[in-house]
Amino acid sequence: MDFGLTAAQQRLREEVRAFIAKESTPEVIEETYWEHAWGPATREFYRKLGERGWLTPTWPKQYGGLELSHVEDLIIAEELSYHMVRVSMVSTSMAGPTILRFGSEEQKQEWLPPIAQGKLAFALGYTEPQAGSDLAALDIRAVDDGDYFVINGMKTFNTACHYADYHWLGARTDPDAPKHRGVSLLIVDMKSLGITVRPLWTMAGWQTNEVYYDNVRVPKKNLVGVRGRGFQQIAVALDFERMFPVGLAARLLDDLIHYTKEAQAQGKPLAVDPIVRHQLAEMAAEIEVCRLFALRIAWILDQGRVPNYESAMAKVFLTETLNKLTHTAMKVFGPFGQLQRGSKWAPIDGHVEYHHRWQVLETIYAGTSEIMRNIIAQRGLGLPR
Ligand SMILES: Cc1cc2nc3c(=O)[nH]c(=O)nc-3n(C[C@H](O)[C@H](O)[C@H](O)COP(=O)(O)OP(=O)(O)OC[C@H]3O[C@@H](n4cnc5c(N)ncnc54)[C@H](O)[C@@H]3O)c2cc1C
Repeated sequence: MDFGLTAAQQRLREEVRAFIAKESTPEVIEETYWEHAWGPATREFYRKLGERGWLTPTWPKQYGGLELSHVEDLIIAEELSYHMVRVSMVSTSMAGPTILRFGSEEQKQEWLPPIAQGKLAFALGYTEPQAGSDLAALDIRAVDDGDYFVINGMKTFNTACHYADYHWLGARTDPDAPKHRGVSLLIVDMKSLGITVRPLWTMAGWQTNEVYYDNVRVPKKNLVGVRGRGFQQIAVALDFERMFPVGLAARLLDDLIHYTKEAQAQGKPLAVDPIVRHQLAEMAAEIEVCRLFALRIAWILDQGRVPNYESAMAKVFLTETLNKLTHTAMKVFGPFGQLQRGSKWAPIDGHVEYHHRWQVLETIYAGTSEIMRNIIAQRGLGLPR
């Protein structure tokens, strides 16, 4: 077994690194990382990434991809996340792959090239107050009306709706069918009449949203895949698309190591303190495990297999490792750790303080840690439901 990168993969890593050094402006980092949103600088940056095919490297060339492997996809994601550029996009990781697998040829031609070019922002429209972990309980109604569906109801925690061009919506088209059978996937133009977006502020300080639909008319041609099979399509897309780059964790650890070499306690660098050294060593080992999980998933995908319980293992381990990393850093910083970005006394410019609040959210969205452990128990260990 060879864990090394090929010469071509190494070259790709260098190219991506050089691209980021040139194109990732402070505005891009401000918008994607601190505000967790797309602004003008982000749109321009994603357009340039799209020009190179790096938003959708595994997609077929005819739809804007490069037909590269998932390992190469991971290399690009690792570099971007290490350099604090967030490219967690519903368009490329949820909507696009589902259209690719389940959409008609007409839909592929219409939606995939602009997604690959980084021109379209999508927001994920799954969760409702009674339907989070139990997604099949979703109840927003899409009623058949000639060439349209008319949609009424609400969604909650729909991040990105305040700037997205389209909503990737799970809606109930067949209320009399069993709950796993009556859901369909629709693409909704966020400028449609009857949509209201209200902010919900996370503890990390960035915005997610409630979204209200009041008689919103959506053309039937925007239904993706098979009517009533949306829940199954969502599940397949999730299984294929759970890749977890460890770039950000590696960057926070590198910054923390650098800090301990500079900062002094009782006349000595923190880096000579045996407790600090052991904590850093433990974190380095756990982040390496996360990296191996990520490579394993990329490898499984490249074999054409579905990594479902393996993805759950990777998600729960990485998000909980990040939690542990920010806890460790907060202990190393002492009271200074609570200072936010902007204070001249904030260690590492407040990155850890920010992540300490953000990481809690990572263990909730895209499936909570409990749900991930359920998946590992059922599908990985074969335990009864
Ligand atoms: C910051 C943020 C951003 C989000 N962005 C989006 C978005 O863009 N689009 C979108 O559609 N959704 C989004 N979500 C919603 C997210 O996917 C849900 O919050 C998540 O799936 C959990 O659902 P819930 O909040 O309804 O909690 P619940 O499902 O009600 O769970 C409550 C608690 O019970 C536990 N639990 C539930 N069921 C089980 C079980 N069977 N076994 C063991 N424990 C269980 C959970 O782990 C959790 O601890 C976001 C959430 C957050 C916090």
